[in-house]
Amino acid sequence: MSAKSVSIKSASAKFTSAKSVSDTSKSVISKSAISRSDFATSTSIRPDSAKIVSVVRCQDYDPAKVDPALRRAVGLLGKMGDLVRPGSRVLIKPNLLQPAPPERHITTHPQVVLSVAALLKEQGCRVVIAESPGMPPYSQASLRRLYRSTGLEEGAREMGVDLNLDTGCTTVPAPNSRLIKRFSVIDPALEADCIVVVSKAKTHALTGMTGAAKNLFGLVPGLEKSAFHARLPHIDDFSHMILDLNLLLKPRLQIMDAVMALEGPGPSTGSPRKIGALLASRDCSAMDVVVSRLMSFDPREVSTIRAAVERGLLRKDFSDVQAVGDSLEDLVVPDFRKPPAGEGRLRGGLRAAFNPLLRSYSLRPQVAEDRCTGCGICSQVCPARAAEVAGGKARVDYSRCIRCYCCQEMCPARAIDLRRCLWGRMVARVSRER
Ligand code: SF4
Ligand code: SF4
Repeated sequence: MSAKSVSIKSASAKFTSAKSVSDTSKSVISKSAISRSDFATSTSIRPDSAKIVSVVRCQDYDPAKVDPALRRAVGLLGKMGDLVRPGSRVLIKPNLLQPAPPERHITTHPQVVLSVAALLKEQGCRVVIAESPGMPPYSQASLRRLYRSTGLEEGAREMGVDLNLDTGCTTVPAPNSRLIKRFSVIDPALEADCIVVVSKAKTHALTGMTGAAKNLFGLVPGLEKSAFHARLPHIDDFSHMILDLNLLLKPRLQIMDAVMALEGPGPSTGSPRKIGALLASRDCSAMDVVVSRLMSFDPREVSTIRAAVERGLLRKDFSDVQAVGDSLEDLVVPDFRKPPAGEGRLRGGLRAAFNPLLRSYSLRPQVAEDRCTGCGICSQVCPARAAEVAGGKARVDYSRCIRCYCCQEMCPARAIDLRRCLWGRMVARVSRER
C-alpha cells in the first residue's frame, strides 16, 4: 500500500471546511419508547431539507424492478442533476464487507450498485466503484477477488464502469472533527468530485446496525480500520469517529439496499431477511433512522444514531426526519431479529452502575473449533493482539480482547460466535427486564 501523508496546511481546502459540530451538545435521549410515527411521514417534499428519506417498495433484484424503484426513490429527493453535478467524477461506495456471493446478503447487491452507476452515467458522470474491505490484504489481487465474488466484475465491465484497483491512501486533516483530527482515506475517494454511498441494511454486533453512516468507514484503508477500534474502544467514541468521517467526506447522496437485509448476528454471520425496499436520502443519519425503523429497532439502539442526536445532527425525537414515498408501516418487519446486545446497547442507568464490569458483561468472541480453518484472518485484523492461531485453530485471550468484534466480522468461515459468560448473561437479563 502506498500511503502518503499530506500536511494539514497543504491539504486541499475541500477537506478543511467540514461542517462544524457542537462539542457542547449534551442532549439526553429520552428513555421512553417511541412510536413508529415519531418521525414525520408525508407525500409532500421540502426540497430544502436534507433530512428527507424516500422509501420505495422493491420486491427483488430483477433489474426491471430495481431500476424504476431507484429512479423513483431518487426522484422523490429532486432531480439527479441537482443532487450530483452532471459530468463530475463520482465514487460509488458500496458495502463490500468480504468477498462473498450476493445471495449471502452481507454486501450491497450488485444490481443496486450497477443501477446507481447507470443513473450517474446518464448524467455524463465518470463513475468508479471503490471499497477497502477490512479483510487483509488491501491489494490489487484481493480487490479483484472482491469484485468478482460480490458479482460486480462482469456488470461493471459491460457498463464501462471502473472498479478501483488503486490501493494508495492519503492522510487528510479533519480540523472540525470531534475526536479524530486526521483521517487516512483511500485515494480514489479524494480524487472524486463527490461520493455516492450505496449501503446494505444489516445488523451489527458493535453498533447495533450497519447502515449508511458506518458504511463510509470502508474508505479508510485496510487494517487501519482495526486500529481505530484500539484507539477508540468505547462504542460512543467509535460512533463519533464515524460521524467525523462523514462530516469530512460529505457524501452527496445515500442509497440503501433494503430489498434483502441481514438479521441476527450481523454484519457477516446473520441471516437474510426480506424488507423489500430501496431508500434514498442526502443525510446518512436520517437514512439510518428510517432504516432502523424498518428493521424494528428503536433508533436509539443504534450507536451512530445516538451519537448524531448527542451532537445535534438529529433532533432527539427525530421530528426533523421526513420519510416520503411508500408506507413505512407496510414495510416494517416487526419480528426482525436484532444482533445479540453488545456493550453499546446496555441501557443507561445499568451501564453506569456496571461500568467497571462491562468487560465481563460484554459479548465475547468464541471460536467454534469445528468450523475454524486456522486461516489466521482473525489474528491479522485483531487490533489488540488478542486473537492468535495455535495448533491450527484460533484462540482468544480475553484479558486482552477489547470486544471490537472485528474477528467475528471478518472470519470467512463464520467460526466466531458472540456469547456472554454466566455473569454477563445475568446482567443482560436484568437489563432487558427494566
Ligand atoms: S476463527 Fe475464523 S478467521 Fe480465525 S482462524 Fe478460524 S476460520 Fe480463520
Ligand atoms: S479478539 Fe476479536 S473482539 Fe477481541 S479485540 Fe481481537 S478482534 Fe476484537
